[in-house]
Amino acid sequence: MKKINKIQRAITFICAFMLFAVVASAQYSSRSASNPYPDKPLIAPIGERIGKYITVNESAKGPSIDAGKGYRLQELGKGLYMITDNIYQSMFMVYENGVVVVDAPPIYATRITKAIAEITKKPITHIIYSHAHIDHIGGAKTLNPNKGTIIIAQEETKRLLERANDMNRPIPTLTFKDNYILKVGSNILELSYHGNAHEPGNIFIYAPKQKTLMVADIIFPGWMPWRRFALAQDIPAYFIQVEEINKLKWDILVSGHVERTGTHADVALQLEFMNDLKNIARQALANTKPGQGLDPADTKNPWAIFDNYIDRVVIQCVNALTPRWSSKLAGFDVYIWDQCYAMEQSLRIDEQ
Ligand SMILES: [Zn+2]
Repeated sequence: MKKINKIQRAITFICAFMLFAVVASAQYSSRSASNPYPDKPLIAPIGERIGKYITVNESAKGPSIDAGKGYRLQELGKGLYMITDNIYQSMFMVYENGVVVVDAPPIYATRITKAIAEITKKPITHIIYSHAHIDHIGGAKTLNPNKGTIIIAQEETKRLLERANDMNRPIPTLTFKDNYILKVGSNILELSYHGNAHEPGNIFIYAPKQKTLMVADIIFPGWMPWRRFALAQDIPAYFIQVEEINKLKWDILVSGHVERTGTHADVALQLEFMNDLKNIARQALANTKPGQGLDPADTKNPWAIFDNYIDRVVIQCVNALTPRWSSKLAGFDVYIWDQCYAMEQSLRIDEQ
């Protein structure tokens, strides 16, 4: 009899445990499917994961890449071409006696000469650096520049490359301060410096005959900008440069990243998003008081007081922007927290 009771108790316990497990798992999956963060938005905060990211919009996509080649070439007109792996973008321009290469992203640098060979057998005579960052020019050495190859950059880029002392990014042989017009045969590239925003030395490169503007790491056609305004070293200047690109006359924008070239509508949309973000962050800063809800034991810890304050500002920022922008910009969910943190910080230290 005792033995039967023991078995019954064991079965009851196992059934109860299984029921608990089923209920717990149902609760977990319903939380995962809806909102896993009580009082927070669906978008995962930095360092948290909630499964799949929001599906990338069709409008953000470009032509597909030939997997065998690992890149695609896009003719921009009159000897100008974009090379891309649908993540990075660079250019080359063919003229009567040779080829001018603009940037050499290391991710596909070994294929740049193959891409050029699809169009011409002429040699590379010039390399232009859009800016000093490794991910855009770290493949320059791979292009085998010899002593006769002219490497052009803004003078700040030269300073940064001398400091970096990186053999993969040869030091520029020709630098300029504000403007430089490169005339090669019947083709032209107009280089201009608009000050530090992304990083010192990042230039605008305009091909007037092709009405094509290249500026790296400022505009992200169809996409949320890379985290923290693409790591802009000067956020107010970054806003100004987006406005400048919006006002300039051009037909095609090569932005250094993403799957396709950009249009004026892409720049206007990014600017609208950035201004909305700025206004929302400014309102959240004004409407939020430091110290509220803080554990009284932390009131003598100023770092904790501000961390608590900034977190509450940023949660409001993400909550307000999500319904307005999550379906308009690809990758919105990936970096919206970063953008809100960067915006509140810039507003507190760069503006009054
Ligand atoms: Zn960069």
